Amino acid sequence: MSRRKKDGRVRSSTLLKRVVKAYVKPYRGRLFIAMAAMLVVAGATGANAYMIQPVLDGIFLQKNADLLLVLPLIVIGITCVQALADYVQTLQLRYAGQAVVSDMQGDLFAHLMHADLTTFHDQTSGRLISRMTSDIMLLRISVSTALTGFIKEFFTLIFLVGVMLYQSWEMSLFTVSILLFALLPVLRLGRRMRKVTDATQARFADFTSQLDDTFHGVRAVKSYGREEFEISRVRRSVADLFALYYKAARIQAASAPVLNLIGGVAVAAVIWFGGMNVIEGTTSTGAFFSFLTAMIMAYRPVKVLASLNNQMQEGMAAAGRFFDVLDRPPVIHDAPGAVPLVLARGEVTFDHVYFTYPGGKAGVFDVSFHLPPGRVVALVGPSGGGKSTIINLLLRFYETNAGRILIDGQEVRGVTVASLRQAFALVSQDIVLFDDTVAANIRYGRLEASEEEVVEAAKKAHADEFIRSLPEGYNTPIGPHGVRLSGGQRQRLSIARAILKNAPILLLDEATSALDNSSERAVQEALGALMATRTTLVIAHRLSTIHHADEILVLSQGSIVERGTHEALLVARGLYYDLYQLQFASS
Ligand code: ADP
Repeated sequence: MSRRKKDGRVRSSTLLKRVVKAYVKPYRGRLFIAMAAMLVVAGATGANAYMIQPVLDGIFLQKNADLLLVLPLIVIGITCVQALADYVQTLQLRYAGQAVVSDMQGDLFAHLMHADLTTFHDQTSGRLISRMTSDIMLLRISVSTALTGFIKEFFTLIFLVGVMLYQSWEMSLFTVSILLFALLPVLRLGRRMRKVTDATQARFADFTSQLDDTFHGVRAVKSYGREEFEISRVRRSVADLFALYYKAARIQAASAPVLNLIGGVAVAAVIWFGGMNVIEGTTSTGAFFSFLTAMIMAYRPVKVLASLNNQMQEGMAAAGRFFDVLDRPPVIHDAPGAVPLVLARGEVTFDHVYFTYPGGKAGVFDVSFHLPPGRVVALVGPSGGGKSTIINLLLRFYETNAGRILIDGQEVRGVTVASLRQAFALVSQDIVLFDDTVAANIRYGRLEASEEEVVEAAKKAHADEFIRSLPEGYNTPIGPHGVRLSGGQRQRLSIARAILKNAPILLLDEATSALDNSSERAVQEALGALMATRTTLVIAHRLSTIHHADEILVLSQGSIVERGTHEALLVARGLYYDLYQLQFASS
């Protein structure tokens, strides 16, 4: 599709076109104003350089007293116009730049929220975070510098060269050839700079994800006594980043002196060449100084324009990374003609379902079962047997390879993803709570629920009592991941959330770790309330759940190896019997 270079990278020009078309275009009005203002700034800069000539020749050499009043007024006028135009230009450009950033961030986040689960398995969250933040910032800086650079500096240079040519074309020719020569080392430094920036970005993304992992896993770090290990790991990353920053600094530090050196040589040459012309009388003193001023003023635009390419490259590399994420279409999406799922009572059927994980051999093979409305099917089996996979397939986090999955007689592939997920309440052992209040965490189940409904759900989940004992009741902030609550309390909050969602089918991944007796009882009662009116598919770790299941499916290596009620399976003395002896008999 997009044109790529030999190494697979998309061309900068292609990327730039795409960025402009998709994100910059909506702000073309403001950019147009900014560009007009830039032209004015450039013109005023040229005019100021030109003014040196009448000042020197008229006032200083011819001692013209009339000009003494007029020229300063003109200079003030030019400067005022320039200042105003500069203000307008900066403001409009900043506005457009930040608006582009906001739009890109919004789009990327929306895309990620609809992306497949695999996107988040393939990329660390740190990497995705740096796509959202530093990459987009880089892009903004590069696009706005490119715009300013290109319009303002380019036109400033044109005007200044115009003044130079007007004052003396011989001296102009002489100087321009020297300035062109100055471009070569600058371009070389720029290329080296780009390499360093690329490496820095990549390393920085790793660093962010390293931090993210460590902060999330801080309990593991501490319980294994791995503080020093983590510290040295992070120190290594910091040292790597330091080395890269220093490399960049060395290149940057060299750029200015190199340019100054060339500039100095150019000025010296012009003094020699121009001075000769003034002495011979072919050039006026005013013209010479006006020329010299224009030339010195041209130094900045030349420098900016020379570094423009690198800025662009840097930004476009970031744009490449941005679009790489954005261009990955979700595999799971509504099929053409998908209709909303019509929920009846929550009946689930697996009909010869096959699935393997991308790139792996693991999955589920020929799984068939029927879960009638209101009943309970328990999944048991050794770890890695395929229990979670069945739940993932039911939620359509992954697409089956063969076979059919039906909800109330409708195939999951044929219905809209949003309506499908409405059918389920998922209560998982890794409880996800957000850094918000208790009420907000329960309301996550149904955003439009009233306060009474939230309290009602909490009561059913046996959570109301402990919530009321919290400092601010339902408005108590629970801290990141709910750290301010006990394990049992967190579970009951997640159950209240599921109750509030009021979906007909409950997917329950029971916690493996036991709570203390009273918490356990409260959680069990809450779960009982949740299961009472729902169809339940449960990854069972608790004896009581297994006893109550209408059917138990024993999964091993992705296949159902046994099925039946608890009693029947015990009599059969197969894998279930062994597992039961191992896990439950002692309790
Ligand atoms: P259980 O829930 O019974 O412990 P799972 O359904 O999680 O088992 O896993 C079944 C098999 O699929 C395992 O061999 C596991 O390694 C593999 N598996 C699980 N998730 C993924 C994944 N995202 N990518 C590749 N393989 C996976």
